Amino acid sequence: MNKLEYINRVPISKDNICIQRDEKKCNNCGACKGICKSRIGVYDNYDMKKSKTPICIYCGQCSLICPNKSIHEVEDYKKVKKAILKGRNIIFQVAPASRFLVGDEFGYPVGKNVIGKIVGTLRKMGVKYVFDTAYGADLTIFEEANELISRLKNNEKLPLLTSCCPAWVKYVSEFYPEYKRNLSSCKSPVLMLGSIIKNYFCKKNNIDKPIVVALVPCTAKKYEVTLTNDVNYAITVREFVKWIREEKINFRKIQASKFDYFTGTSSGIIFGTSGGVTESMIRYVYHKLTGRNTPKKFLEFEEVRGLNDVKEAKVKIKDRELSIAIINGTGDVPKIIEKISKKEAYYDIIEVMACDGGCIAGGGGPKVNKITNINKTKRSLSMYRFDRNSRLRNSYENKKIKKLYKELLIEPNSSVAHELLHIEEDKDE
Ligand code: SF4
Ligand code: SF4
Repeated sequence: MNKLEYINRVPISKDNICIQRDEKKCNNCGACKGICKSRIGVYDNYDMKKSKTPICIYCGQCSLICPNKSIHEVEDYKKVKKAILKGRNIIFQVAPASRFLVGDEFGYPVGKNVIGKIVGTLRKMGVKYVFDTAYGADLTIFEEANELISRLKNNEKLPLLTSCCPAWVKYVSEFYPEYKRNLSSCKSPVLMLGSIIKNYFCKKNNIDKPIVVALVPCTAKKYEVTLTNDVNYAITVREFVKWIREEKINFRKIQASKFDYFTGTSSGIIFGTSGGVTESMIRYVYHKLTGRNTPKKFLEFEEVRGLNDVKEAKVKIKDRELSIAIINGTGDVPKIIEKISKKEAYYDIIEVMACDGGCIAGGGGPKVNKITNINKTKRSLSMYRFDRNSRLRNSYENKKIKKLYKELLIEPNSSVAHELLHIEEDKDE
């Protein structure tokens, strides 16, 4: 690696598939280095002098913080535009956090849920179907919660490490490969839904050669979609906004529209904020192990919410007490791993989101408002408000998931579910 390249700024390799730097716009301010080092825990956390290629987990936080828009995502939306013009079958899925972020760019209050406008805009752009990634999140809960129950029963591969954040999965591979076996084998909600769209929906409806696109607040998804054939492109919220402006679409005036077939519960929606995956998983595990409806304390699971660097909780379900840790930003992972290694702490579940706050502060999000804790809190409160007001607040209440198991998957963790929804091998190879 060129020494000069990493003195003031993060080094970015030419073949990085998620982010690139426009040299003309960089004034060497050092902001990218600061966030990568302190909150993401990558810069300066490996032997940079010896490394031939810079390590990057693709989180995109450097692109979010760069004041000069020098670091930017590798853009894919033009390929999608082209495919629409060619009349291809384009199917979009919209990630939970995206709907709470796009509005920032069009003058809505921070954290406003603008999902109807997003779906309406995609229809105007010529997209054939628009689905809700929260469906993929509900499906993840069915698979991952049952994986957890089985690991607890057999007392193996604990703590279970969540696997829906691709930057975190990459981080484990780079810095703690000995913990790779602890990662859940579940694909992320985006990949799970992509797999079901292609292997179930398109087959059932005779849709030929679909192109599945995920609208995400994340740059690392661009890397994740290269790992399987489930999703063709991941485009960030920023790319989507740029596309809307290029098309001269008046987002505020667009007629709101609803999702097509696949929709999720609000358990799937709160995946977009730190602690949300765990909260949703506990709601399901409680129901599965007791046969009862989720109690209020897990519908408002305060201990796992908020922006603290590390959140810990203990949960008693029947006779088993579960220890949980939520890590907010990969920069805080080493201190928890150290505690585990020294046997100073024990956890059954560890949720990690590489970006501080989770996907609501994802590296592909809007830059128009500063990514302050106040704004992150506004977004996550908006998400929790949506959850509180929803009729269906548990993944196990999603009837279309039950139908999917009946028609295709048989039961969670079945061999067909494993074939379509899990990655058994190393997640980054
Ligand atoms: S994408 Fe993330 S890991 Fe890569 S250089 Fe930027 S901040 Fe660091
Ligand atoms: S944050 Fe942007 S402008 Fe500042 S050093 Fe990094 S790339 Fe250059």
